[in-house]
Amino acid sequence: MDGLMMDQPLLISSLIEFGARYHSKSEIVSRALEGPIHRYTMAEANHRSKQLAQALTRLGVTEGERIATIAWNGYRHFELYFGVSGMGAVCHTINPRLFHEQIVYVINHAEDKYVFMDRTFVPLLEALAGHLPKVAGYVIMTDKEHMPETKLENALCYEELLAAEDGDYQWPEFDERTASSLCYTSGTTGNPKGVLYSHRSTVLHTFTVCTAGGAGPNTRSRYLSLVPMFHVNAWGLPYGCAMTGAKLVLPGPRYEGDAIFDLMDEEKVDKAAGVPTLWMLLLAEMEKRGRKPEGFKTLVVGGSAFPASMIAAYEDKYGVDVHHAWGMTELSPIGTVGTLLPSMDALSKEERRAIKTTQGRAVYGVEKKIVGENGAQLPEDGKAFGELLVRGPWTASSYYNDPDATAQSFTEDGWFRTGDIVTLDENGFMNIVDRNKDVIKSAGEWISSIDLENAAMGHPAIQEAAVIGMPHPKWDERPLLVAVAAEGEAPPTLDEVKEFLADKVAKWWLPDDLMILDELPHTATGKVSKLNLREQLKDYSFPGV
Ligand code: AMP
Repeated sequence: MDGLMMDQPLLISSLIEFGARYHSKSEIVSRALEGPIHRYTMAEANHRSKQLAQALTRLGVTEGERIATIAWNGYRHFELYFGVSGMGAVCHTINPRLFHEQIVYVINHAEDKYVFMDRTFVPLLEALAGHLPKVAGYVIMTDKEHMPETKLENALCYEELLAAEDGDYQWPEFDERTASSLCYTSGTTGNPKGVLYSHRSTVLHTFTVCTAGGAGPNTRSRYLSLVPMFHVNAWGLPYGCAMTGAKLVLPGPRYEGDAIFDLMDEEKVDKAAGVPTLWMLLLAEMEKRGRKPEGFKTLVVGGSAFPASMIAAYEDKYGVDVHHAWGMTELSPIGTVGTLLPSMDALSKEERRAIKTTQGRAVYGVEKKIVGENGAQLPEDGKAFGELLVRGPWTASSYYNDPDATAQSFTEDGWFRTGDIVTLDENGFMNIVDRNKDVIKSAGEWISSIDLENAAMGHPAIQEAAVIGMPHPKWDERPLLVAVAAEGEAPPTLDEVKEFLADKVAKWWLPDDLMILDELPHTATGKVSKLNLREQLKDYSFPGV
């Protein structure tokens, strides 16, 4: 028997339409490329997104065609999120930090019809355009006054395109399963893999962004998204702000500690989301100024592990509540969010901190199980660890036009293999032990590189650390600690670090060697690139071995 409820499609346009109607004065504040700060309202954003949809229609873009963006977090990028998807086309956000060959690959693989770019990326596209035969034209996201000289053929000016339209446009209605946006994972091996979101998956995910654990936007929040809009739809925050009417603050191209601090201070940001490296930069700036940005209350962090020492600094010293979350491009991305349960109020501070350093807790809509090497399901007791498999309405079901990658990562009975080795406990808290390929195998036992890194980063003279397994004739692999010294501190010695770690990890986990570098290599999404680090250290061998 069917229920007797309306079958109204869940469409991305309904989010901005709702925002424009009921949160019409909510602000979107961006650090613009042309000048210091740009601000306008949700109603204006909806109007301009409609002008954009009209302009795309005039350019001959039809439902299902891919429109690429290479841009910072700013209001025009926001309009592309809604204008492109809203008209039924697919918004393909490209990470400008990918290698050039990868950018060429993703544009050709997606068969993008137009590429929209911030002025910053004009030279990049000029260099690559010769390899992009299927692109019909390029749109530079600026006004006439700031339009650069360019060798790009068919280069159009964004503001001129919009100015030719009146915004009198009705968002079309179509099947909610229609593709809405496309994001390629910057995999460490092989070509990037395309994750193709739908309107339905995006709207359902948005509910979770706004409700899970109190970390998301709500009507009263002033939310800073340091998460780039070119990475997994900025964790869904632009959609969440349209749904709730939260003020959305976007940093443009400026990611330095002082620029982040000033923007937060001026816009009275109370919640902010980003990857750990940015929180390290902001913390250093806060230490320099001896205060936090005014009104800053909640920090959401994910993408890589966030060490206990950082959580302690934010929470104990500055009273900023930390929510540690975990996600993946394939999961839209939210998979877990850290929130303490009421029953945990009675625990000691140390016990609560230990829970906060986990990657957070189950959210509705992402079903999980862990399996051992033989594929058998393991208990969720907080101790057994294995590969995490997930499924749910905002988890990818395959990669876009990539049967080989799909065969590797999706099981026949409908689960996605995350490649993360985790424990789960009876309350749904998840702890990442390691990436499948980063775990260190020593004498048949596993050492968690993440746990070691987190512990090492608590050392006052260490700013950032990475641990990688290096070949060892007797033990198979042993941990090598590679670290960047904290500013103004003398680099620590191996013995000092071992002494510091002695009561934090098992004795046989202690690193066999320490190497101090000026900086660690990072991936296009800001994680330490262990692939590059291994490449850099390929001639290394442990002393005396
Ligand atoms: P991406 O698809 O680029 O967002 O990368 C997803 C991967 O980042 C996951 O599979 C994890 O290995 C890692 N990751 C994401 N969030 C966290 C976190 N909070 N702690 C540790 N690793 C994380």
